[in-house]
Amino acid sequence: MLHLFDTATGTVTPLRRRTPGEVSMYVCGPTVYGPPHLGHGRFALVFDVLRRYLMWSGDEVVYVSNITDVDDKIIDRAAAEHTTADVVAHHWEQMWWQAMDRIGVLRPTHDPHATAYIADMVALVADLIDRGAAYVLDDGVYFDSSAVADYGLLARQSLDSLRAGARVDVDDAKRSPTDFALWKLAKPGEPAWPSPWGAGRPGWHTECVVMSLDLLGDGFDLHGGGADLAFPHHENERAQAMACGRPFARHWMHNGFVEVGGEKMSKSLGNFTDLTDLCDRHDPRAYRLLVLRSHYRSPVEVSEASATDATRALERLDAFARRMAPLLSNGSANVSGNSHAGVTPDPAVLDSFARAMDDDLDTPAVMDLVFTTVRSANALADAGNADAAAPLGAAVFVVCEAVGLMLDAGAADAEVPAELLELARQRDAARANRDFAAADHLRDRIQAAGWVVEDTADGTALRPG
Ligand SMILES: [Zn+2]
Repeated sequence: MLHLFDTATGTVTPLRRRTPGEVSMYVCGPTVYGPPHLGHGRFALVFDVLRRYLMWSGDEVVYVSNITDVDDKIIDRAAAEHTTADVVAHHWEQMWWQAMDRIGVLRPTHDPHATAYIADMVALVADLIDRGAAYVLDDGVYFDSSAVADYGLLARQSLDSLRAGARVDVDDAKRSPTDFALWKLAKPGEPAWPSPWGAGRPGWHTECVVMSLDLLGDGFDLHGGGADLAFPHHENERAQAMACGRPFARHWMHNGFVEVGGEKMSKSLGNFTDLTDLCDRHDPRAYRLLVLRSHYRSPVEVSEASATDATRALERLDAFARRMAPLLSNGSANVSGNSHAGVTPDPAVLDSFARAMDDDLDTPAVMDLVFTTVRSANALADAGNADAAAPLGAAVFVVCEAVGLMLDAGAADAEVPAELLELARQRDAARANRDFAAADHLRDRIQAAGWVVEDTADGTALRPG
């Protein structure tokens, strides 16, 4: 059974489903005002891995991730660009989905937009005022953080210590520094919707309460996001639901930060600055591999060096996929993706995979398992034992696919020139005669022609370099 660290309790606990066989999860999505950054990429990948693993384990997953399309940052950018907030939000939302597609993140089951839920948010704010959990000031409506007995739960701090640590703005009229805006009255020229307190827009913390409860219902299974969202954003969501008497998320999951490892991220220095840049400069799967090699609660270092290293590791995995493909498809040439038709994946490898994932998503152990299994399968294939190598190869395909790492088995065979095929045939003959000097010499000649030489169970295989 899957165990995950729960931010609310500070312990690793079983993920208990509201309905057996189903998982309802809500992950806070982006505010669309600029290019997706590396931190966005990480949370999207971490929760994509969780979602795919749940699906692989047989759960039906309802995955909701919102688009914040009304926000101060969007309004500021629209003003700077002499355009409307709508235009800014629409453009950057398209960029967001493009980036998600490139890194192989599955689209959410539902992707609610804040602007489609304004009336529901107004109703929630009115309800909070009626219940005495919110109050009206000159510039809008505020939530009273003392209305919730355990406010501060997700910060793992008491209300008193949060208040003591908060910065107080002198012209802040809020009753407490931990109180937060539910409704902001509009200044001239800002986007605005009608409300009983005047035209304005919702505060950021309200949309996710309304959208998660609407699409997933009370007491949904899991709420997630980056660690920076635990407090105040998630705590403020939780406080609103509690104050309305609505059971909220049963489990809270947060992923760690991205570190850029001392390297300056700058276009002028020729390295990447955001997720789109990273995908332009490296195999887009490299980021998923980096994320998988780190535990989701630990920092992940993203730099030119770590991305290059991950790209090399992917090349090794792809080479393995190409080598295994003929063994897994009874010799058929057109194996692509993670196909493993006809061969039963090694059960011990799959058991180890599930055990590691169930232990709070120990993906670093999973990647160790993958590379160890690759080495074992290669050794067996080298020794001519294809029958023993194939189940291991199939297990590698299954595990990689379960965490969303798609291997490239090289579906379309490029046309190999006849003279190179002849050199490859001579090389196989030399190897069969244990004349390795001649075999190496032939390999060098093939490589000099721009082709990559690989040893497969069927002998020398060539692909364009
Ligand atoms: Zn949220």
